[in-house]
Amino acid sequence: MNRRSFAQTLGSAAVFSAFAKAPAWSQISEGATAGKIMAIAAHPGDGVFTMGAGLAEQVERGGAGVLLNLSLGERGAPKSIPVGQYGEMQRTATLKAAQLLGIDPIFFPYPDGEIPFNEESALRVCDAIREYKPSVVVTHWSGSWHKDHQTCHLIVRDAIFFAGLETLARTRPAHSVSKLFYAENWEDATNFVPDTYVDIEGVYEKWMKACDFYPMWRGQTGFFRYNDYYSSLSVVRGCVSGFKRAVALMADANERVQRSQFL
Ligand SMILES: [Zn+2]
Repeated sequence: MNRRSFAQTLGSAAVFSAFAKAPAWSQISEGATAGKIMAIAAHPGDGVFTMGAGLAEQVERGGAGVLLNLSLGERGAPKSIPVGQYGEMQRTATLKAAQLLGIDPIFFPYPDGEIPFNEESALRVCDAIREYKPSVVVTHWSGSWHKDHQTCHLIVRDAIFFAGLETLARTRPAHSVSKLFYAENWEDATNFVPDTYVDIEGVYEKWMKACDFYPMWRGQTGFFRYNDYYSSLSVVRGCVSGFKRAVALMADANERVQRSQFL
């Protein structure tokens, strides 16, 4: 990634020329599996609100997207709706969103608030990575106040390790993920430093419609103004990246090393 060159030019007009040289999202995600991105979220709202636009953009460019939900986020239910019923509403909303965005949804059965971090959960995600073979994975950043988000982050890191381990025998052969990014999420904001900006202007309206399938997006389950936050954030991230609208991501620290024989 062009993290360093961007950081050096941020705040000056040169930022745009730096971005012109930066690899496009579609180039970043090119790989042996033709640009497939897998988003892995603790809850469906996280997946669609913070990772959905990037997935949709990839699909728009002829790639593919998979959204793996570790839980249904059912405990975010308002008092008027039983938890089980709300979970099914979340599943239905996610199926509709996935269809609209052209991505494959996967649901794991972990209870909201109790997603376990252990070998079983990491291997289950490992098996999904080996099955779908994404070149890029997007998930939660670790700096979150939500325990499920922190757990998801840890699970995904272990799962990517397991998935690429040739000597770990599972049903399917090993698969190495080329890139790992963390999504920008208001609940995961501690020490989140964006370094990758994806142009989402072409899929913005579709992404907004996908988000609108969720009651929480419309402010029906709590205080937080998801709609205002994520739609406004796309403008803010677009301003600093030279796009009309953008989503920001943070590359895993291990991917920031650049090798060069000259400067
Ligand atoms: Zn969440």
